[in-house]
Amino acid sequence: MIVILFGPPGCGKGTQAKILSNAIGCPHLSTGDMLREAVELSTKTGKLAAEVMAKGKLVSDGIVANIIQERTGQKDCNQGFILDGFPRTIPQAKKLDKIIEGRGLVINAVIEFGVRDSKLVNRIIGRFTCKNCGASYNDATLKPKLENACDICGSRDFIRRKDDNEKTAMARIKAYHCETEPLLPYYRDKKILNSIDGLAPIKTVTEQILDLVKKIR
Ligand code: ADP
Ligand code: ZN
Repeated sequence: MIVILFGPPGCGKGTQAKILSNAIGCPHLSTGDMLREAVELSTKTGKLAAEVMAKGKLVSDGIVANIIQERTGQKDCNQGFILDGFPRTIPQAKKLDKIIEGRGLVINAVIEFGVRDSKLVNRIIGRFTCKNCGASYNDATLKPKLENACDICGSRDFIRRKDDNEKTAMARIKAYHCETEPLLPYYRDKKILNSIDGLAPIKTVTEQILDLVKKIR
């Protein structure tokens, strides 16, 4: 099954993608994670992307399309995958259609997370993850139960994304409205667009997504 999780930065796509990936046994492909890894490893792609990402702008369509073409060609993607953060522009969506068509597959669903702008910045600047196990937390909504220790693994080592500051968050939200939102009519026309309430508690959002996914299975 191929599912696209769609929505502005900070809407909860990443959190839900991890849960859904475990629930249906399809890999979670996050272009943001893949780009951050490339930056960390200082690869050719990483060097090209670092500055753009730090400004909250979009990395070029060619770079991200190549990443996705390569990753979706790997064996664990044969039965489908969950896309988080891709596509983000119309050319990326068209490229994805070509890749998927070439493999005889279809996009089963696009799930749009509705969260209004005023909620996004606080969610973004508050978030942090455990460096050891990857568990996600938020200053505003989900602090670790014991101060400064991860609920899951007890580690005291937390990390915050460099681009999770107010200025960059605003630029990312703007990029979403200008460049990514025009994809909504694109997928609505294909009759695969579904919208859910991204402001609901994490568990409720998961239930909404699993209900949708059950229907298309
Ligand atoms: P968020 O959705 O919270 O902004 P991501 O981890 O998805 O975070 O993306 C972080 C950054 O990586 C983006 O601001 C952008 O610079 C880059 N990026 C990720 N995916 C894409 C994409 N499909 N096209 C262009 N740039 C991307
Ligand atoms: Zn942990």
